[in-house]
Amino acid sequence: MALEPCKVCGSLTSTEEEICIICGYPAKGRPKSLWLKWMALILAMLIGLPLVIGLIQTIRTPTQPQPLELPTTKTSDA
Ligand SMILES: [Zn+2]
Repeated sequence: MALEPCKVCGSLTSTEEEICIICGYPAKGRPKSLWLKWMALILAMLIGLPLVIGLIQTIRTPTQPQPLELPTTKTSDA
């Protein structure tokens, strides 16, 4: 029986254990969880990136200057 450091929390976990007893991360043989982690990361990026880009664009163009044309006043005098 050997001990291996957990990839996530670094605590020594028995190699016979399927998951880390501390954080529950599967020590071996379960790459699906890792996939899920990556998927979550990618999803977070997909959602976060447009948000960040939108934020940057908002900062770039602060308050738009008021339009020259007046909304209610018409020059035509009938
Ligand atoms: Zn762990």
